Amino acid sequence: MAVYGYAAALGIVGCAPPLISCVARVSSAKWLAMSYVVRPIPITRVKIDKSVMTYLMNQGIVIEIATYAWAIDGGGTRILVDTGCPAEVQTASGFPATQVHTLREGLVKIGWRPGDVDLVILTHLHLDHVAYAEELGRATFVVQERELATATNPHPAYEGFYPPVLRELLGRLRIERVNGDREIVKGVSVMLTPGHSPGGQTVLVETGRGVVALTGICCIKENFEPPRGVRGISRRFILPGIHIDIEELYESMERIAEASDIVVPIHDPSYLEVEQIP
Ligand SMILES: [Zn+2]
Repeated sequence: MAVYGYAAALGIVGCAPPLISCVARVSSAKWLAMSYVVRPIPITRVKIDKSVMTYLMNQGIVIEIATYAWAIDGGGTRILVDTGCPAEVQTASGFPATQVHTLREGLVKIGWRPGDVDLVILTHLHLDHVAYAEELGRATFVVQERELATATNPHPAYEGFYPPVLRELLGRLRIERVNGDREIVKGVSVMLTPGHSPGGQTVLVETGRGVVALTGICCIKENFEPPRGVRGISRRFILPGIHIDIEELYESMERIAEASDIVVPIHDPSYLEVEQIP
């Protein structure tokens, strides 16, 4: 496992996988043999106290993180992972943000239009990952059942992450529920990775350099690769600051590291300038 952070422009090798329904159980991500690339679409920059990303550490240090949509390119099915969020919506929800691209602008930059997107895999249903969903009107949205149940009836402990406006939005989308680990199309799978949220899912993408994991956990690179000599309460990882179950969170991080060759922490700012992974 390596956390990927540098632009690497390798050739795109693509063939068209059929769109299949979410029925095949994933036994191992390693056997997949497709060759996609992942294109980061930066949506917002966000100033945040570092302790939000690193549990019980770095209080009072302001860092910049980013939100993204991620295009999975190289197949016949146009797949997006998450949609990002308008900066004003993110700012209103307590995370001061500035817009890098609207979703539409970001899609145009990679040669897609909103109407081209067939499938959107939502890592989870916090607003920063789903707020642009209605711009992708013809797409089907793949969501874990546990996450959908939570968004519909959130526990009071974290109901602020699932406001009424989100429930109304979800009611207008075409949603395909999944329960656990599934292959979505050949070479693209989801893995249930709860802990940050009850039904977070990590997306595993087969590429020419191995399996890329788009984490279903809001995190940055330091979470998976702590700087030398820096340890939080866990030896292996620095746990992200936002979680609803810290043991599940740790176990999900272990699963992500083991199932992939390249971990892409979905809020790391280093992808702002990256055109494709790998
Ligand atoms: Zn997030």
